[in-house]
Amino acid sequence: MIGGGLLGLEAAAGLKVQGMDVTVLHLMPTLMERQLDETAGHLLEKALTDRGIKVITKANTKEILGTTKVEGVRLEDGTILDANIIIMAVGIRPNLWLGKDAGLDVDRGILVNNMMQTSDPNIFSVGECIQVENRTYGLVAPLYDQAKVLGSTLAGKDSKPFTHFEAATKLKVTGINLFSAGDFAAGDDRQEIVLRDAAKGVYKRLVLQDDKIIGIVLYGETADGPWFYQMMNAGDDISEMRDTLIFGPAYAGGGGADPLALVAGMPDEAEICGCNGVCKGDIVSAITDKKLGTLDEVRAHTKASASCGSCSGLVEQLLALTLGDDFDTNAVTAMCACTDLSHQDVRRMIISKSIKSIPDVMQELHWTTSCGCTKCRPALNYYLICAWPGEYVDDGYSRYINERVHANIQKDGTYSVIPRMWGGMTTPNELRAIADVADKFDISTVKVTGGQRIDLLGIRKEDLTAVWADLNAAGMVSGHAYAKGLRTVKTCVGTDWCRVATQDSTGLGIQLERILWGAWAPHKLKLAVSGCPRNCSEATCKDIGVICVDSGYELHFGGAAGMHIQGTQVLCMVDTEAEVIEYICALTQMYREQANYLDRIYKWADKVGYDYIRSVIVDDEQERKAYAARFLYSQKFMQNDPWKERVEGKEAHHFDAPLVPKKLEETV
Ligand code: SF4
Repeated sequence: MIGGGLLGLEAAAGLKVQGMDVTVLHLMPTLMERQLDETAGHLLEKALTDRGIKVITKANTKEILGTTKVEGVRLEDGTILDANIIIMAVGIRPNLWLGKDAGLDVDRGILVNNMMQTSDPNIFSVGECIQVENRTYGLVAPLYDQAKVLGSTLAGKDSKPFTHFEAATKLKVTGINLFSAGDFAAGDDRQEIVLRDAAKGVYKRLVLQDDKIIGIVLYGETADGPWFYQMMNAGDDISEMRDTLIFGPAYAGGGGADPLALVAGMPDEAEICGCNGVCKGDIVSAITDKKLGTLDEVRAHTKASASCGSCSGLVEQLLALTLGDDFDTNAVTAMCACTDLSHQDVRRMIISKSIKSIPDVMQELHWTTSCGCTKCRPALNYYLICAWPGEYVDDGYSRYINERVHANIQKDGTYSVIPRMWGGMTTPNELRAIADVADKFDISTVKVTGGQRIDLLGIRKEDLTAVWADLNAAGMVSGHAYAKGLRTVKTCVGTDWCRVATQDSTGLGIQLERILWGAWAPHKLKLAVSGCPRNCSEATCKDIGVICVDSGYELHFGGAAGMHIQGTQVLCMVDTEAEVIEYICALTQMYREQANYLDRIYKWADKVGYDYIRSVIVDDEQERKAYAARFLYSQKFMQNDPWKERVEGKEAHHFDAPLVPKKLEETV
């Protein structure tokens, strides 16, 4: 990575998370020297080094080596570094040719006035190519403001002129908290207030001039950044609170501060989410107009805190401030008593901090207990499986009893066993084997389930392995009837037998079950495929349903028929079986990656919005294919048949590849 500025470091951290060996080459003596003073720059370098990213400062790149492909770089001092990929993040320079060709006045950028008008009154310009008041811009927030000014002008409305404001910088590398804004160069007419706590890795520096804040550098603890930033932009006189200023708003005005005072005092234009350029006014309007009540809902509708998540706390405070007593604190409750972090926070940090074991989660995220509890351990086990397919090894001790024993415990202490019947189909041989097992092990109850499977009830624990062995010998595998994962794909008889069927619903259901089986999920996952809208397999009350019609396939999702009863909503129509499979794999993976543990699809969809899910899976082809590809990749490491593994005396966590059609793998 050539360039140790904001974007270069965020990219370097992202590549490191992907498992790459990353070196940052930076021309200046300290990183991010435009935003950070020397001390904070060194702290940042150490934090990156601790994360395994090599940093070389004062590194002047002279040459990129390689003929047909990149092989390395040569520095000015002769050092040669091998590289397979070189990424340059060395700042931006406006491209001026269009402005010059049009005869416009240009300097470092195309010159415009505060109404975005160039030297030709009929030509306006916004963005990174312009220069206004001797400044050029590369951040998104001022560009949005320029676009608003221009939009109003073009619409014939009065508009306030564009005004410069000092943008704050936040490094979006989770675990490295850094906030910087303004001018922090030393000067005779300036004073500094500095707080250092080396043991805690905290460094705060405020630069003052004429009793006003003109520069802010916060490292380690950045929660007060927006408060300082607001005062800096407003030009507030801080002389009255100078003694305690560095300790933040909690000490302003003699203590006893309202925790919501910080967000309450922010103007509507104050930027809350730097990643997506979302300001306070946008969030408050969305909460009020769309009746949002949770962080997930605000994320889905405004994108605030949907990227790096560092502003989640501020968004929650805005929810509390806007909703008052209607704010459901449970909506943002921690995942359990062992942590203050929510499920979503933990999921995000597992990935951004590259955490790959339950003990590491507990240590890195400061769990208050040493071993976790029955709430967090199964959730963490699932989140790690989902985040690191092929790397994380399932922890059987973090599973509920049914998943540990691969059977369902009954009220008398015996177990129930359900073999898988692909798409609800069985054969005389399978039925004979089931009957033989029932006779041999004195199984008193054999019952057909609502999911078109056969349940053997009343099996003694000591007989489980022998029962599985006999069923395996007849070609049957676990039906995962106990799992937070794929349970069943129910089908009707379709075109093979039904006079009104429109498609091969049975064959499609079998294909889906072959592809999806063994995938762990936040909760159980039930599917159904019906061969026509008469819907004999009840697809419209399943987590995911398919209704075949003459012109193709209607995909449904979000149904439930348990304690909670709810019909599905339509996802979309598709034309081919290959599309059905791709869309369902993508939807399943999106659910796997986003839902809280123990949320069924309908609960997750209620939180993030059905339209949001459609906008990703249906409208965004690239995202859909990426989700489907990640699902298929993770299935290479799925839990195949835990019964077989137990019979063979192995632990059940790494198995053969699933039966994914070659064509589908190529498609996605
Ligand atoms: S859903 Fe339609 S195709 Fe399937 S069995 Fe019923 S009537 Fe026949």
